[in-house]
Amino acid sequence: MPELPEVEAVARTLRPLVEGRRIYRCHVLHSIATRPQRPTRLQDASEGQRICDVERRGKYLLLRLGRAYVTLHFKLDGQLVWFEDAKEFARRANCGDERVHVDVAFALDKGVLGFADRRHFGRVWAWKNPEDCPGVAALGTDALSADFTPARLAELLSSSRRPLKEFLLDQWRVAGIGNIYSCEAMWRARIEPRRRANRLRRRDARRLHKAIVSVLQRALECCLDPAPDFRDPGWWYQGLEKILRAYGREGKPCRRCGKPIRRISQGSRSTFFCARCQT
Ligand SMILES: [Zn+2]
Repeated sequence: MPELPEVEAVARTLRPLVEGRRIYRCHVLHSIATRPQRPTRLQDASEGQRICDVERRGKYLLLRLGRAYVTLHFKLDGQLVWFEDAKEFARRANCGDERVHVDVAFALDKGVLGFADRRHFGRVWAWKNPEDCPGVAALGTDALSADFTPARLAELLSSSRRPLKEFLLDQWRVAGIGNIYSCEAMWRARIEPRRRANRLRRRDARRLHKAIVSVLQRALECCLDPAPDFRDPGWWYQGLEKILRAYGREGKPCRRCGKPIRRISQGSRSTFFCARCQT
């Protein structure tokens, strides 16, 4: 699932492609992608508008238009696809031999930007202001923002009695971290995922802050090399397994102490950790 680094990589790659372009037509090919909004809301808000900027907040991608915002959330495996022109879009989108899956497409004055999620969990919505989107309004401190400091993290930790893993997944507190990078950050900080957030000591919080920032930055570098290729509908983030030390490594030796990595279930999600060196 795209977490902060993946969405940031998409935002940085998309910006030069679409910034300053005008949306002359918005095609909603699968209306489930705009639910519960009606497709006409997205079309009315976006058609004729220029894309002024591409932003990211937590795991949301935002298109700032002249008079509205479009929010995109990729959920489990949503992605963007790019077509050079309307002809290529007509030939490949949801038809032809290739049947490139597209749910929503913005035809620009140069190129067509598509949003696709075969499982149809992802959403594309239109808003007057980003804060009108409840998911965006509820976001806590972005984990790659200047506001995310060791002191801020310590303050947030002290106000929660939840197990650390669940605390880290809560977008209302720290925004952008999901299952993969929470496991990685806790492994790096050597903290046991079931410890209660408010029981962490000051120095644990400092170590955790450093671990979160470095895990996210490392993953972002990985996500940008190679950068997302929107022209290839089969493209997905590559090379991340190289940097993973805990996530998905059940039974494999801990890279620090050699003890097998354990998997437990927390809040219906899998947590991977080392029972020896995470305390
Ligand atoms: Zn270990």
